[in-house]
Amino acid sequence: MHKETLAVHAGHGVDPATGAVAPPIYLSTTFERGTDGGYPTGYSYSRAGNPNRAQLETALAAIEGGAATAAFGSGSAATLAVLQSLAPGDHVVAPTDAYHGTTRILRDLMSRWGLAATFVDMTDLAAVERAIEARTRVVWIETPSNPLLHVTDIAAVAAIAGAVGARVVCDNTWATPALQQPFAHGADLVVHSTTKYLGGHSDVLSGAVVAKAEDDFFARVREVQAVGGGVAAPFDSWLVARGIRSLHWRMRGHVVNAAAVAAFLRDDQRVEATYYPGLPDHPNHAVAARQMSGFGGMISFQPRGGSANALAVVGRARLFIRATSLGGTESLIEHRASVEGPQTRTPGNLIRMSIGLEHADDLIADLDQALG
Ligand SMILES: *Cc1c(COP(=O)(O)O)cnc(C)c1O
Repeated sequence: MHKETLAVHAGHGVDPATGAVAPPIYLSTTFERGTDGGYPTGYSYSRAGNPNRAQLETALAAIEGGAATAAFGSGSAATLAVLQSLAPGDHVVAPTDAYHGTTRILRDLMSRWGLAATFVDMTDLAAVERAIEARTRVVWIETPSNPLLHVTDIAAVAAIAGAVGARVVCDNTWATPALQQPFAHGADLVVHSTTKYLGGHSDVLSGAVVAKAEDDFFARVREVQAVGGGVAAPFDSWLVARGIRSLHWRMRGHVVNAAAVAAFLRDDQRVEATYYPGLPDHPNHAVAARQMSGFGGMISFQPRGGSANALAVVGRARLFIRATSLGGTESLIEHRASVEGPQTRTPGNLIRMSIGLEHADDLIADLDQALG
């Protein structure tokens, strides 16, 4: 079946007990044993397994084309679970422009665990090759990346990692399985902040790890999930599973709108630079065109006039909402350097936008007046 159809139906059916078309929410933390002491439904205690989480995990594995999924309480908890499945002394190669929370997990938390990390520009394949060591177990990819929308060639990095037996983990949050299927390009695991496009409505915090194969490594991720307990709650799982049903059609809208907004910014004299992988002059456009079926809903740009003017542009926005995060139906705008703090390498006049599902003409009109 096609991915749109899987997204609508995978993981749930009509409830046999009531005929309910939408799945019920199972808040129960505990499940009754059979008279033989076993668990006839497979559920025992909600940290180990819950019907809503299982429905979400099945749906997400189906649309990513993976074998299994472990759902967590946030994208960060999913990232942490993958890294906690490694051993002290192991080494990770990660992008210099990884999500700042991922960088912090590697640099501040996992260093205490004895996990080593080298940060490289993932679009520079020679640098990736140089960063690989005999003890490298994971090469972490995030594409497109934040905030400059760099696009990493997943297949090329997978070939380099595969040569030393390292796993490729791809954070697919920005592209979503609707636009990019990392397993088809050689990734072994996919990580999601389902808080973003999969949830799709800015109302649920959660995350997931999807595995291409149910191997020993994924068994460790499952162990971190069930024993560590950073699981996705039943209602949160229900919300993300609901979001997934409309994912592919929402992504089409995000892509159409973002393409229109990016074209407007590129042609506007008040704008110094526009970063969108769909623009033919984007440095990674060819890679993006090869590995993505759409260029996503995220755009960054630099208005002329430096940092102060960028802040003023953001301040004048009326339809765009001044907030961080991405993937909701409403368009968001933010001055990126202020979000990332004093040690940021992001240019002071960089503005990042999550393009929502309003009409593109209204978004362009708002940016036109905000540019002053
Ligand atoms: C938001 C985000 C995360 C972290 O997810 P949370 O759900 O906020 O913990 C990880 N990776 C990317 C690319 C993100 O955008």
